[in-house]
Amino acid sequence: MIKKLIRRILGKKQKADDHTKPVILGPQQHGIDPQLVSSNAVRVTQTLQEAGFKAFLVGGAVRDLLLGIKPKDFDIATDATPEQVKRLFRRAFIIGKRFQIVHVMFGQDLLEVTTFRGASSDGSPKDEHGRVLRDNTFGEQHEDAVRRDFTINAMYYDPATQTVLDYHGGIADIRSKTLRVIGVPEARYREDPVRLLRVVRFAAKLDFTIDPATREPIAVMAPLINNVPAARVFDEMLKLLMSGHALACLQQLRKEGLHHGLLPLLDVVLEQPLGEKFVRLALASTDARIQQGKPVSPGFLFASLLWHQVVEKWTAYQAAGEYPIPALHLAADDVLNTQTEKLALQRKIASDMRDIWAMQPRFERRTGKSPYKLLEHLRLRAGYDFLLLRCASGEIDGELGEWWTAFIEADGAGREALIAQKPKSGNEGGAAKKRVRRRGGRGRQQGPAIESGE
Ligand code: ATP
Ligand code: MG
Repeated sequence: MIKKLIRRILGKKQKADDHTKPVILGPQQHGIDPQLVSSNAVRVTQTLQEAGFKAFLVGGAVRDLLLGIKPKDFDIATDATPEQVKRLFRRAFIIGKRFQIVHVMFGQDLLEVTTFRGASSDGSPKDEHGRVLRDNTFGEQHEDAVRRDFTINAMYYDPATQTVLDYHGGIADIRSKTLRVIGVPEARYREDPVRLLRVVRFAAKLDFTIDPATREPIAVMAPLINNVPAARVFDEMLKLLMSGHALACLQQLRKEGLHHGLLPLLDVVLEQPLGEKFVRLALASTDARIQQGKPVSPGFLFASLLWHQVVEKWTAYQAAGEYPIPALHLAADDVLNTQTEKLALQRKIASDMRDIWAMQPRFERRTGKSPYKLLEHLRLRAGYDFLLLRCASGEIDGELGEWWTAFIEADGAGREALIAQKPKSGNEGGAAKKRVRRRGGRGRQQGPAIESGE
């Protein structure tokens, strides 16, 4: 009831507004806890203000503060030009060619300072589907606000006066947990189709309801994503996967019909029943790590997402007569080649993925010096975590994971005893060896048999 009333009052007030003047809220009204604001962010806004400029926290940080969440990073918006910003700080770097922003560093802490962007003009260059290619003018704060994607992402907070400036009814939408595009959704998606992915990410991450007008065009407009440069899609996908709510995001993508034909990666992940349990476990553990503030490697994440595609090809290569180890490398090549092209996987990520995959058959060798050599592998931890996921998903016998857990924890004598111990599972040994060279004999079996020898 009360919520509805507030929404009505605020909604009315802002409808009458032409969005060039903000609704201004004091600390009593917005309830932001100043303790949640990083001292470095305050340093930046204060320095800018003392030099005579306007400066505010903006975007995700303000949204999170209003929700009582500690923001993971702070973006700052100002009317100072990048050059003017740079001069005020000892360690400040102008980044970007098209639209310059300034990175201000304090120790490890990085703050992004952006000059208010101007209204996008109809004359700005677009591709044949209406995607805006370049639009880099500076402008007023209200013009900056209208260019942002969602009402809840378009608020400004001044730490000095503890006021929130709200141009588009963001406060009301925060309170009613509504995700709403600023302006006409179709037009905003057309300008920048990446916003389709952003809807899904924020709805899942914040557990907000998507406003009907914002939601309705999504499925129809989904194919527009294909015209966006792969590197941008990749950045946005990475944000989605590293949001701490990756599982919820992927479920939401599916619900919105966005996974189909949108990204080759998602087709693979969401439509492969065999791999689904594995992916579910991988994402659940990634989400848990992120929520606990632990680091997550994108390489591990993508290695997990694409593993069952690798397994499928690995099996096929072996069925065609290839030895297991070369077969695995061929399968990895195939998968990485396709995905690098479409997803712009960075080289470092791709090489981490390959390492993690290539380590898997090595876990099956539990005799002689092999296990000791593997202990020295730089990425043992990632490879071992990956092995445990394979066990947990039922792809391979859990006994192998238990053996490695024991082996990693054991002392010298304990390790020798483990090596002397006969493996309980039938994964290693002659049976697998015989199957390997038989052409086409193995069908689409999961968890290919491994044997030693490279
Ligand atoms: P998170 O906390 O997940 O980083 P965020 O809102 O900070 O969320 P960013 O991707 O870091 O998301 O973007 C920062 C801000 O820049 C957004 O809050 C929004 O105001 C604006 N923004 C980012 N991408 C777009 C876009 N594609 N179209 C319009 N505005 C955008
Ligand atoms: Mg952000």
